[in-house]
Formats: sequence, C-alpha cells, structure tokens
Amino acid sequence: MGVTQQQVLDALARVASPSGVALTSAGVLSPITVNDGKVFFSINVDAAEARVWESVRASAETAVRAVAGVSVAMVALTAERKPGAATAPPQRPAQGVPKVSAHRPPQGGQSPMSRQAEIPGVSAVIAVASGKGGVGKSTTALNLALGLRDLGLRVGLLDADIYGPSVPRLTGIHEKPQLDDNRKMIPILRFGLSIMSIGFLVEEDTAMIWRGPMVMSAITQMLRDVAWGTLDVLVVDMPPGTGDAQLTLAQNVPLKGAIIISTPQDLSLIDARRGLAMFKKVNVPVLGIVENMSYFQCPHCGTKSDIFGHGGARHEAERLGVPFLGEIPLHISIRTTSDAGTPVVESEPNGPHAAIYRAIGAKVRDQLKGAIEAA
Ligand code: ADP
Repeated sequence: MGVTQQQVLDALARVASPSGVALTSAGVLSPITVNDGKVFFSINVDAAEARVWESVRASAETAVRAVAGVSVAMVALTAERKPGAATAPPQRPAQGVPKVSAHRPPQGGQSPMSRQAEIPGVSAVIAVASGKGGVGKSTTALNLALGLRDLGLRVGLLDADIYGPSVPRLTGIHEKPQLDDNRKMIPILRFGLSIMSIGFLVEEDTAMIWRGPMVMSAITQMLRDVAWGTLDVLVVDMPPGTGDAQLTLAQNVPLKGAIIISTPQDLSLIDARRGLAMFKKVNVPVLGIVENMSYFQCPHCGTKSDIFGHGGARHEAERLGVPFLGEIPLHISIRTTSDAGTPVVESEPNGPHAAIYRAIGAKVRDQLKGAIEAA
C-alpha cells in the first residue's frame, strides 16, 4: 500500500517545533503532497525566526524519510515577511548587489557568499532564462544541453521551471528518481544528460500553485540534494520572468553565466532586456542572447520568411554589448520532436537545427572555457 498523508502527519507529530509544541500543532505546515512515495510540503514561518526553524525542517525531512514506503521527502522552509511588509514591492536596491530578500530559504549560520557555494563536481552552472513564458526557453535549454554534449562535455539539465516543468514531456521521462546511499536523488540519465526536474516529483498542477519562497527553497534543494556526479556544465532551465523569485534564484545559484532566450517580437525583447538587467543586478555575466522562432522556415520548400521581423535580438544584443549567440528558426520539426520527447538534436543529429544548437553550444563553451578547464 502507498504512503498516506496520515502516516506523514503521524511522523511529523513526533517532531518538535522551537517552542516545544508538535510540528503538526504549530500552524506552520502547508498542505502535504504525497505522490507515489514522494512527499513534498513546506513549513511557513516568520522570516525573523527562520534560522531556528532550519533544524526543524531538517528533522521533519528525516522523520518523513523514515516512514516506510517514502522514497523522496522534500521539505521547504519558506520564510515570509510579517503581514504589512509582505506587500512591499520587489526590492530595487539603490546600488550594488541587492540585499537578499526574506524570500531566501535560510540555511542556518552561513554567510551570504556560502549560499552560492559551488556544487561539488560541477564546473559551471549556467542559467537559461526568458523574460516571459512561451518563447521556447525549455526547448532551447534542452537542445543546447544536447549541443554541449555533442561537443564532448559532460552535461546536466536542471528543470527549475517550477511553475510549469516541461522537461518530463520534452524528454519523455516518466520514471521517478531513486535515492543513493547518501539519500541524494540520482538524476535520470537520458540522451547522455543527467536530468532532474521538479516535474519528476510532483504533478504539474501542484507546482502551479507554489508561491515564490517555496519555489526558491525547492530549487536550492534540487541543486544540492541531487547526486550530480562530475559535470562540465549544468544547464538550469529557469522559471520564466524577471520577478522577485527569479531574482532570488539568480542570486542563490552559483551561476557562471546566463543565456537569455527571446523571440524577435518587440514585446519579448523588452522582456529580454529586463532579464539582462536582472542578471546584471546580481553580477552574473550574460553569455548572450538567442533569438528563437527567429524566422519561419517552410518544412516543404525550406524557404525562409521573416514573419516576426527577424534580427531584433541581434541588434538588441549589439546595442547592449552582449554576445549574440544565434538564431533558431520556427520550424515544425523542432516542435514535433519536442512534443514526442525526442528533442531535435537527438532525433535529427545531422539536420540543420542540430547544427544551429551545436554552434550556439560552441559559443557558450568558449565563454566557459576557463571554468571547465580549471575543474
Ligand atoms: P517556454 O519554456 O519558453 O515556455 P517551450 O520551450 O515550452 O517554451 O516552447 C513553447 C512551445 O513552442 C512548445 O510547443 C515548443 O515545442 C514550441 N517551440 C519552441 N521553440 C520552437 C521553434 N524554434 N520552432 C517551433 N516550435 C518551437
């Protein structure tokens, strides 16, 4: 029989909160998701008390993992501001690197820099980001990861697009990650990539209702509680947008660089500009802009049509002084291969699209050379 919510609650009733009352009576638990032996919930506390709650979070996770039948337990600590402060607008610090917001999951006693500690065995973590959803960020992240693989690099992909994790669909992965002896999740190996997605653990509609702080906490754990092994590059498919959650994420993940995906339309370029500004704010170098759905390529005759006014991202990149990494056409086979779980670089390795992704990969690799070779 599968694990029940009651079993999880029974285990949590034996964990004490800082005031001594049972965790289940402290009024801090989010709804508990139990899905095929995977348990996920958050402990929501006042930011001022976050530090003392971190050990409770760890104890809760240990207690739940000890329940028979539980294969994965992820407990997020979400530190909310006090009512009143909660409605404050996203921080716009006057200068320098912004203060880390109260959204950040506390990790007891560490300095701000150590939150950015490198991930052991991983030479370079890079973010693939977009100012808004639907521009092809996830498709590009996966195909870029495959392009980097084709260049002989050891590559991982973390789907941190927690609001709509699409990597399970794009890769056709339906199995759940197992735990190793250190109780770290083992990423799923597919197409020669080490892949992890929150979508392996929870249903897509569960993820949709997550709030910012919970997102951050979950992603931090996915970075650190996964046995990534030795990787040259870990590609992080970021949640779309440039809000507070994304900013906090960019701040907390030890990024060597970021890639912005944009379509040629003006609106999307404005969003891309916001993305650039966001990474600048947190001192993450922007490795470049990719123009996706750049031009329409007829699947029958191969004719190119610039239906969106192609070239906008290239000009924008020039204007802003960041590298332009390449143009990916709007092509039916990029979509159909994605939908089939067999990305185009994998299924049509000798085709023109794979060559484009590999060329973008080569530009990215060249910029990361120092980090990769140093490892
Ligand atoms: P995002 O991650 O930005 O929300 P997705 O990668 O999920 O976007 O892509 C959105 C949709 O667009 C998907 O159906 C995907 O297959 C399709 N798509 C992405 N890039 C291309 C492209 N270059 N040509 C054709 N379809 C694409």
